[in-house]
Amino acid sequence: MNRYGTFPANQPRTGAPPRPALPFFERTYEHGVMATTDRQATTLALAHALSAAERGLAVLPLSRTKLPALRSPHRDEPGPPDRPCHGECGRFGHGVYDASTDPVRIRALFAAAPWATGYGIACGLPPYHLIGVDLDTKSGTDSSAALRELALRHLFTIPETVVVLTPSGGRHLWLTGPPDLVVPNSAGRLAPGIDIRGAGGYLVGPGSRTDHGVYTAAPGTARLAPAPCPPSLLRLLLPPPHTPAPAPPVSGDHGRGLVQFVLSAHEGQRNTRLFWAACRAYENGIGPALAAPLTEAALHTGLSEREARATIASAARMTGHRP
Ligand SMILES: [Zn+2]
Repeated sequence: MNRYGTFPANQPRTGAPPRPALPFFERTYEHGVMATTDRQATTLALAHALSAAERGLAVLPLSRTKLPALRSPHRDEPGPPDRPCHGECGRFGHGVYDASTDPVRIRALFAAAPWATGYGIACGLPPYHLIGVDLDTKSGTDSSAALRELALRHLFTIPETVVVLTPSGGRHLWLTGPPDLVVPNSAGRLAPGIDIRGAGGYLVGPGSRTDHGVYTAAPGTARLAPAPCPPSLLRLLLPPPHTPAPAPPVSGDHGRGLVQFVLSAHEGQRNTRLFWAACRAYENGIGPALAAPLTEAALHTGLSEREARATIASAARMTGHRP
């Protein structure tokens, strides 16, 4: 741990393509010198939101309670809809689905929510496919220690990346995910006090003001770009297979168990199972031999050939092999 309570950056950066820096202000504004009115808070939140959007992060206005500032336009409609509206109606108020990188739309969102004092950054969207690791302090557990323990047990290193400090003393680590995998939101599944913000979730952006204080980028991390999520951490973030059965055998039957594992996937778990199986195959040295049978199995479950190949290639890269 370094002096900011983050993790050492001991992953070599050589060879990696340069990533754009994020222009977040490390210090925003403080109590005391000048009272921050709600209006100023809104203006500042908008400025921060636009700055984030310039770097490709989709943003939406948040209220002081950290919730989306705009309420659903469908809240008074009777009964649950057949298909929930994610903004197809053209109005604002669809939570994270409002998020945008378009400055005109962002200004319109904030104009519709003049009480907004913060902004959310949607996770799981291109180009970063952001994954937020939310290290909580409220639960009375040492979530940072829990993450370090996970890192030791699963042999990964938390890379140097954007860290946002929360008013309650918590920290958000920003990581990027591969474009072809959906990382779900979870609370406390990895370890007590560790929440994951993935697809459909959002992170409170640095510079946001809430009832409890201001979110700020940790000193020294404001200009970093979010670093890729380590593969073995990524695998912990993916939903566990739904079957209570033990992990399928890898050796002895030349990966037939892995193929079977993919074949028995339900619609919601096809890609995840294929990725998991392909990772195990590559880790066990039978990746290249099993690529074709795994693709075949994935086609049986209804994945397209393109999807299947992309997922297997992703697994190969993740495990340090050439796709
Ligand atoms: Zn709608």
